Amino acid sequence: MRVLVIGSGGREHALLIGLSKDPSVTELHAGPGNAGTSAIATNHPVDIVSADAVVALAKGVEADLVVIGPEVPLVAGVADALRAAGFATFGPSADAARIEGSKAFAKDVMASAGVRTAHSEIVDNPAKLDAALDRFGPTWVVKDDGLAAGKGVVVTEDRSAARDHAAELLENGHPVLLESYLDGPEVSLFSLVDGEDVVPLIPAQDHKRVGDGDAGPNTGGMGAYTPLPWLPAEVTQQIVDEVVKPVAAEMAKRGTPFSGLLYAGLAIGKDGPAVVEFNCRFGDPETQAVLALLKSPLGQALNATATGTLGELAPLEWADGAAVTVVVAAENYPGKPRTGDVIGGAEGEGVLHAGTARSDDGAVVSAGGRVLSVVGTGVDLAEARAQAYDRIAAVKLPGSHHRTDIGQAALEGRISL
Ligand code: AMP
Repeated sequence: MRVLVIGSGGREHALLIGLSKDPSVTELHAGPGNAGTSAIATNHPVDIVSADAVVALAKGVEADLVVIGPEVPLVAGVADALRAAGFATFGPSADAARIEGSKAFAKDVMASAGVRTAHSEIVDNPAKLDAALDRFGPTWVVKDDGLAAGKGVVVTEDRSAARDHAAELLENGHPVLLESYLDGPEVSLFSLVDGEDVVPLIPAQDHKRVGDGDAGPNTGGMGAYTPLPWLPAEVTQQIVDEVVKPVAAEMAKRGTPFSGLLYAGLAIGKDGPAVVEFNCRFGDPETQAVLALLKSPLGQALNATATGTLGELAPLEWADGAAVTVVVAAENYPGKPRTGDVIGGAEGEGVLHAGTARSDDGAVVSAGGRVLSVVGTGVDLAEARAQAYDRIAAVKLPGSHHRTDIGQAALEGRISL
C-alpha cells in the first residue's frame, strides 16, 4: 500500500512512524511533512487546503490511501475531492467535519442524539453580549464558533476578561458561543468511525494550558499521557455507548455519515461524562502517545476505516504500560513564536517533529510554535515520564519552553472522579 499523509505536525509524524511499522505499507509520502518526516517518507511541498493540489499530489504518487491529518483541509472539503477522484481517503467529508468546524452544529447534533454537553448560547450581536454574560458564569467559557486551533477558548473567573474576548471575536465578525462551565477531569477519546461502526482507541489526557499547574492561556496542547490510571474501563465504555455511537448514528441519519477519526473531548463530572468538544481528526499531542502503544498495523486500521470495512478489522491490540508526550514550544508560544533557531538533538529517539524545517545547509531549524513532541514509553506512567524528560534533556533549542508536569497529577493520584 502506498500511503500519503497530509499535514506537517507532530501528529502526522506519529502517523507516519506508525504506518512505517505496518508491513502492508510499502511506500510513504508526506505532504508537506516536516524535517522529521523526511527520514521515513518522501516529503512533497503542497498547499493542503487546495483540493486540486492535494488530488494532483495523490495522483502523482499513485496513492492507495490518503490520510488527512489536520482539520482545516477536512472542513474545506479536501476529503470529498479525493474521494471524487477515486482515492481511498481517511478523513470525513466537509459536511461531517462540521462537527468540529461549527460548535453550533456540534451542539445541534448532540441535542438530537441525546448526548450530555454544556448548556450554550450563540451571541452574534454585541448589544446582546452583556445580558448573555449575566446568564452564564462565573466561571465564563467564551468560544469562537469556528475553527481556532484550540486557541479560541477563554475559560475565566474574570467577567471583564470574558467580555473582552467575546467583544474582540464579534468585532472580527466571529459569532461567539457562551457555555456553562463543565467541571471534572478531561478525557480525550479517539474512535475510528466508518458510518455506524465505531472502534475506540485508548483514552488519553491532554494538557491544554501553557504552563505548569495549568497556568496561563490555552494552547494547541502542551503534552499528553495514556492510558488514564484514574479512569475505570466502564467509563470508557460508557463514553462509547452514550456519546460516540449515538453521534455516529445521528450523523448517518442526517445523511452526512462520519468516516475517519472522531475525537471526543469530555469532562468527567459527578453526573458522568459530558462533551466539551468534538474534533474531526486525530488530536495533537495525544496521538503521539496513543500510537506509541498501538501494536496492531496502523495502515490496515486506517484503510479499513477509509474503505468502509471497519466491521471486518481484527480487534486492536495495545502494548501494556504507558506513554507520555511532552511538547517543546518555541519562545513566546502561544503568542507569535520565535523561529529560525538551529535545534540540537532533534534526531534523537522518541523526538517527533512538528514546527521544524531544514535550512539550506541541512540543519534542523525551528519553524513554528510547537516545535517538537518528545515521546517516552515505559511499564508505567512513572517510567514513561522519566523517559520523555530524559529525552527532552538532550534537545537544545534557544528560548524554548515545555511543561515539566505532564502526567504528574495522575501519577501522584491527584485526579479522582
Ligand atoms: P475547545 O476548543 O472547545 O476544546 O476548548 C478548549 C479547552 O477549553 C478544553 O479542552 C477545556 O479545557 C476548556 N473548556 C472548553 N469548554 C469548557 C467548558 N464548557 N467547561 C470547562 N472547560 C472548558
